[in-house]
Amino acid sequence: MTDIWKEREKALENQYIYEREKELIARLRKQERDRLVKDLCHNRCPKCGEEIEAMTFRGVPLDKCPGCGGVWLGPNDLQILSEKDHRTWFEKWFKAEEEIQESRAAGE
Ligand SMILES: [Zn+2]
Repeated sequence: MTDIWKEREKALENQYIYEREKELIARLRKQERDRLVKDLCHNRCPKCGEEIEAMTFRGVPLDKCPGCGGVWLGPNDLQILSEKDHRTWFEKWFKAEEEIQESRAAGE
């Protein structure tokens, strides 16, 4: 004859272990997914996925995407650049970009 209370106790224990393992697996999956996303996105453009390239503009190192032309500034770079030319640096940036585009177009 089986002890129904012992069976119930065992079932509850199994249920508890099952829930704990489910939580653990979910946590590990999330960690693995986050790590994978970080690895795959490292040094990649968030807009088009192209590998970004380091460049220097007015002595400030920046990252630029060759795919879409997006530019990334470090935490203090915007402040450094704005201090260098507090009124016109944006204008100069775009003018320099236009010149590069024009010289590329003329060279082709
Ligand atoms: Zn891009």
